[in-house]
Amino acid sequence: MPWILTFAVLAVVGTLLLCTLTACGDTGPKEKSPIDGARAFAHVKAMVDFGPRPAGTAALRQNRDYIVDELKKLGMTPKVDSFEDPAKAPGITFHNVECEIAGTKADEKRILILGSHYDTKKTDVPDRPSDGPDQFVGANDAASSSGLLIELAQWLVKNPLQCPTLLLWFDGEESIPWEWGSGDRALFGSKHAADKLSRRFDRKLGRNVIAMVLLDMVGAKDLHIVEDTDSSPDLIALFKATAEDLGYGKHFFKSSLPVTDDHVPFKQRGVRVIDLIQFGGNDRSGVSPWWHTHEDTLDILSPDSLSIVGHVVVRALPKIVAEAVK
Ligand SMILES: [Zn+2]
Repeated sequence: MPWILTFAVLAVVGTLLLCTLTACGDTGPKEKSPIDGARAFAHVKAMVDFGPRPAGTAALRQNRDYIVDELKKLGMTPKVDSFEDPAKAPGITFHNVECEIAGTKADEKRILILGSHYDTKKTDVPDRPSDGPDQFVGANDAASSSGLLIELAQWLVKNPLQCPTLLLWFDGEESIPWEWGSGDRALFGSKHAADKLSRRFDRKLGRNVIAMVLLDMVGAKDLHIVEDTDSSPDLIALFKATAEDLGYGKHFFKSSLPVTDDHVPFKQRGVRVIDLIQFGGNDRSGVSPWWHTHEDTLDILSPDSLSIVGHVVVRALPKIVAEAVK
């Protein structure tokens, strides 16, 4: 071998070795996601195909029946919790879907909550500036997280946490008026669930819920989950480290803002919470261009994004529980 070739070979080998040791640039995912993004996407598509799904509609009932049926196929026993708020939502009956998975540590009674809303924003409302027929199908908001939660359910059935896991699909997250205002006429499902659980745990919700992890708008092609400043800093840190460790760091927490969502009623009752939500456009400022518009369709989603968020969640949950039960 001529010396110059020997030198070239050594240089290539040396570079490869250096890259291996120092993880050159963006290394991408370190391990294959145990979450099947294509299967999660199929759930999302099934929900979108029901059409606009605001609270109280037949389409939302179809969406709910779909979730219940899929959970039953997994051998689970979901329950539908129906309730009303005649003063703030006259004529509407809301329905949360609940499903609990037993933990592996029999004496651990504290629970972990994993949730998503499944209703869509009603867009033909009187206070909307340009009203028209409701065509908002909410592919990302909130079929993405509702569908991913079914995929996470199938993983949790096979890989239960040490503590019980309560899965919640919330109804009535979206505000009834077009404008959110004070949020007084929104978050119906999560307020109801937090009240109900508070009674179950004798008003000591903070001590009995290890954490509440909320998913909302988790499927966009240009995935970037914001750092919600209303989430617990320790949970943000844990998810950040998990995402970076898996090679998904670029998709998480590159911008921050306060988000009012279904985690807030739990936070107000002393629970550690985190909202994994995409909010903001490609420049990571303001709101996403498709948010609450007719452009929130399957076209803006990617199965890979669902897989990425799912992968980070299934790696983070056992860590959260392990810290609590040690
Ligand atoms: Zn929304």
